[in-house]
Amino acid sequence: MQIHNLGFPRIGAKRELKFSLEQYWRGDISQADFLQSCQQLRRSNWQLQADAGIDWLPVGDFAHYDHVLNTSLLLGLLPERFTKHKHAVNNRLDLEFRVGRGQAPSGCQCAASDMTKWFNTNYHYIVPELSTAVLTNDMAVNTEQLLAHLEEAKAVADKRKVVLLGPISYLYLSTVDKEDKLALLPDLLARYQQVLDSLSQANVEWLQLDEPVLGLELDKQWQNAFTLAYQQLNKGGLKLLLTSYFASIEHHISLVKVLDFDGIHLDTVAEKIDISAVIAQLPSHWVISLGVINGRNIWKADLVSIYETLLPIYQAIGERLWLAPSCSLLHSPVDLQQESKLDAEFKSWLAFAKQKCRELQLLKQALVDENTDEIALYSSPAVARANSKRINNPEVLKRVSALTAADFSRKDSFEQRKRLQQQALKLPLLPTTTIGSFPQTGDIRQVRAKWRRNELSLDEYQTLIQQEIRQAIEKQEQIGLDVLVHGEAERNDMVEYFGELLEGVAFTQFAWVQSYGSRCVKPPIIFADVSRKQAMTLEWINYAQSLTDKPVKAMLTGPITILSWSFVRDDIPREQVAKQIALAISDEVEDLVANGTQIIQIDEPAIREGMPVKQSQWQQYLTWATASFCLSAAKAPSHTQIHSHMCYSEFNDILPAIIALDADVLTVETSRSNMALLDAFEEQAYPNDLGPGVYDIHSPNVPEVDWMVALIEKAQQYVPVERLWVNPDCGLKTRSWQETKLALDNMVTAVKQLRARY
Ligand code: GLN
Ligand code: ZN
Repeated sequence: MQIHNLGFPRIGAKRELKFSLEQYWRGDISQADFLQSCQQLRRSNWQLQADAGIDWLPVGDFAHYDHVLNTSLLLGLLPERFTKHKHAVNNRLDLEFRVGRGQAPSGCQCAASDMTKWFNTNYHYIVPELSTAVLTNDMAVNTEQLLAHLEEAKAVADKRKVVLLGPISYLYLSTVDKEDKLALLPDLLARYQQVLDSLSQANVEWLQLDEPVLGLELDKQWQNAFTLAYQQLNKGGLKLLLTSYFASIEHHISLVKVLDFDGIHLDTVAEKIDISAVIAQLPSHWVISLGVINGRNIWKADLVSIYETLLPIYQAIGERLWLAPSCSLLHSPVDLQQESKLDAEFKSWLAFAKQKCRELQLLKQALVDENTDEIALYSSPAVARANSKRINNPEVLKRVSALTAADFSRKDSFEQRKRLQQQALKLPLLPTTTIGSFPQTGDIRQVRAKWRRNELSLDEYQTLIQQEIRQAIEKQEQIGLDVLVHGEAERNDMVEYFGELLEGVAFTQFAWVQSYGSRCVKPPIIFADVSRKQAMTLEWINYAQSLTDKPVKAMLTGPITILSWSFVRDDIPREQVAKQIALAISDEVEDLVANGTQIIQIDEPAIREGMPVKQSQWQQYLTWATASFCLSAAKAPSHTQIHSHMCYSEFNDILPAIIALDADVLTVETSRSNMALLDAFEEQAYPNDLGPGVYDIHSPNVPEVDWMVALIEKAQQYVPVERLWVNPDCGLKTRSWQETKLALDNMVTAVKQLRARY
């Protein structure tokens, strides 16, 4: 039996890739030095996998920036704006960064390609921009880098398997302008054929072709495209391992089984599937790779229970059985060994990428020997976790089970609430506000870092943060905004801040996961029933409100966002965890209200990304996700105004869910699309107050007054002026104060011009 890996985290156990990327971008190291550090990283990743007993090492999973971008470069598929200067194309590495982030140490700046979420993970890929022009450009297919990596890996092992994103998923995930995507398939296949030929010539044995879109429903046209593609591609001497993950592909078995693959990889953890029934339908010469170790969480596996599932399968198909993680380990942190601050029991519950590779080896050994002694010993902490007193809080369970329908909705209708809120707040037409954070200056970061290192007393820390809040309030008053915020100076990250204050949530030192490019996140670990220890935001909000007569809007992170951006316990349904978090947030809402806070914002930027891969499962998810939000907000009395904020584009396909949140005011990102996103409301009007963002906070450019006036006028075509708010697209923490002040001054001027007309 063979064990293999679909991909390994490329950032390195100490985020080496991040640091050398940033050094290279700053000009602190040369290109040769940068490439050398990447080579070392690849080498040590392969070595680590080989040492853990992985038989087939993945090659082609490494990327300087992103693996989808790598695929575009491999295929020679870049839009003309990146390739029109020949010298720019010759510096391949800088070309790569220019596509990914708009700039590189050499060459001119260029609008970067779009970036979007990789299925339902927190990883972002660079969206390929395809067109007939791009597919017929004169940029050649270039397998040089891939072949070089193949050669490098030879120093570690002979058995190397090349990993490549398959043509159907690549095309599906791309963006095209006005053309029919599927019409581009023939030209795309011609390029894939060249890659396959080159790998075949290099005597590659196994090619792992990732086709994660098989987890989706796919309409007839896409299904036909899949068949056509794999009938047409000539694999030469290669063996093809059709690979999917993040969802089951049971619904497409009849599609794939007739094609000329040599094996298939199935994710067996994302959804429950009847493995034997699936195998029975597949050709009897195929390798069956089962993804049995969850590649997306941090929990030690219960190997004995996996063994019990696998043993009859192994007995039935023998050497045809391969084992692997469910998906690439890209989504898992690298090495648990580094964590020195976790207590021994807690640590014994966990496994990161390196440990997951070893789990595969243990499993293989147990199956081959038909002996479970070692895996039983290894997994005993995982079994113990399920019964640990540490993870259960009877109080929380009691609260959740006592919930009734009334706990999930506000007392009065929006119209009634709006009247009461207006009496209390007396806001002008087109009220102005911001999304929460103000610039996180170097000073603020230093204050927090010192506080973490115990270099400040509580008193000193409070005084310094209060100074920041005072400045933020003063500036907002000068600008003339109507609803103020405290600025979030005390928060490093909107989820980490609350996670650290909640019971049942743990933090690691090094469990970093790549988000995009050099950006990594360190998700909290929700390991137990969640509850609130004490008030989390009160002192800062009260302080801010004491400085001004204008209303200060309190800022909370919503339950679904906390859930989506964390590693979550797997012993109870996510829905239950969401409810527990919602109750903790609801406690904070109650405290804020009791303290006289009139406006509370509960941010939910992550609602969309938590959606399952299959559209048929969206509704079920959205029902409990919106219910959790509603639960967190429902305790607010009618005169208290609840805001929510989300910053993803496109909400037309989940509009009913967004309406179901029943926030009094919803602020959304719309400026980059020129309010086009509001087209969604042509079919169904948005019933509550709406604040469509009037400028893009990702750009350092100061938006002009006329431009914002025009956008607000446009927004009025969708939402009556009495229900419109005016605000930026998102929080301002990444901007400077200078930019922020100029932009907000212009925003207020724009609103004044409009108000003068009424
Ligand atoms: N309140 C948060 C902020 O302003 C919201 C961030 C977000 O939407 N991602 O920073
Ligand atoms: Zn946002």
